[in-house]
Amino acid sequence: MNIWRLNVRSTQITECINSWKFALDSKPRNPEIQKGDVLLLQLVASDADKFDKRNSRIEFALYFDHYEQDYDGAISKYYWPNAGKTWHWILHCNGMTSTIPFSLEKLNLINNYSGQTNPMIIKSEDVNKVMFYLIGIPLKGESIGDKIHTALRDSAIDKEYALLAAIKNNDRIVESNPNQINWTTVPAHKEIKRNAELPCLLKEFYSFKCQICGHDFLEEGYEHPYSETHHILWILRGGMDHSNNLIVVCPNHHRIIHREDPIFDRNKLVFVYKNGLNEHLENEGHLNDPVLLQKVEQWAIEREEQIKKEKIILAN
Ligand SMILES: [Zn+2]
Ligand SMILES: [Zn+2]
Repeated sequence: MNIWRLNVRSTQITECINSWKFALDSKPRNPEIQKGDVLLLQLVASDADKFDKRNSRIEFALYFDHYEQDYDGAISKYYWPNAGKTWHWILHCNGMTSTIPFSLEKLNLINNYSGQTNPMIIKSEDVNKVMFYLIGIPLKGESIGDKIHTALRDSAIDKEYALLAAIKNNDRIVESNPNQINWTTVPAHKEIKRNAELPCLLKEFYSFKCQICGHDFLEEGYEHPYSETHHILWILRGGMDHSNNLIVVCPNHHRIIHREDPIFDRNKLVFVYKNGLNEHLENEGHLNDPVLLQKVEQWAIEREEQIKKEKIILAN
């Protein structure tokens, strides 16, 4: 697997996210881009200056699948109608991920990746440093949580800002295709694929503290922090891996919520139990978009139907 750096304008990023496509004038050879390669979407320098993202030019990566030749520019015009140009090659991708926001020039890499050349391969001696920011891509011996930790420790940007940006960017990818449920078919049944990065980002964002009771294993003297994430709308009820549907809780609260199945009052951020008990949720700002909350609920209705129809079960 190779990692490539692609320059992209801010006006084109939304379409990349919505369609999982990119466009190039010419194909790189020796090596070529192969299926499974990672394409880093790097904001062009002028846009990075304009949007104050000099330290966070890269926030998304695409997983390359295959090329399509755009003979007459029709595909380019369809996806990027305002670009004022067309490209010879369309890169179709089969997925994408948000990264811990970073800029290549801030990582003390051996090679220089600035300039206009598109695309540019990340040389093997630099790959390891870059990998920590690509939390969706497994790195031998490192858990997602470890990767997030290392990336943030060395990051040129503020930790809270970086985490919230990664969480919201993850949401943007989910929202680009809300009704598509990814599942893996194992011999006996279909399983829903889970997003492994978002729970890790949220736990780190809340410093592993329970949003209900504030419980913190570190404060109690344990060596490692521990918390869990709970889907407000359960996955089997159509709830998505979207930050407006996920909260960080201690194992005790997680168990009791599943046992008692309280109603969640989204306006007040309160769990209302059947016996009248109310429990309020601390929110550091990841749960406060009423429009998104409504959308997440609407998507859940459609997803629940599909889950039932396809007889998909929940993977562990
Ligand atoms: Zn708790
Ligand atoms: Zn749960």
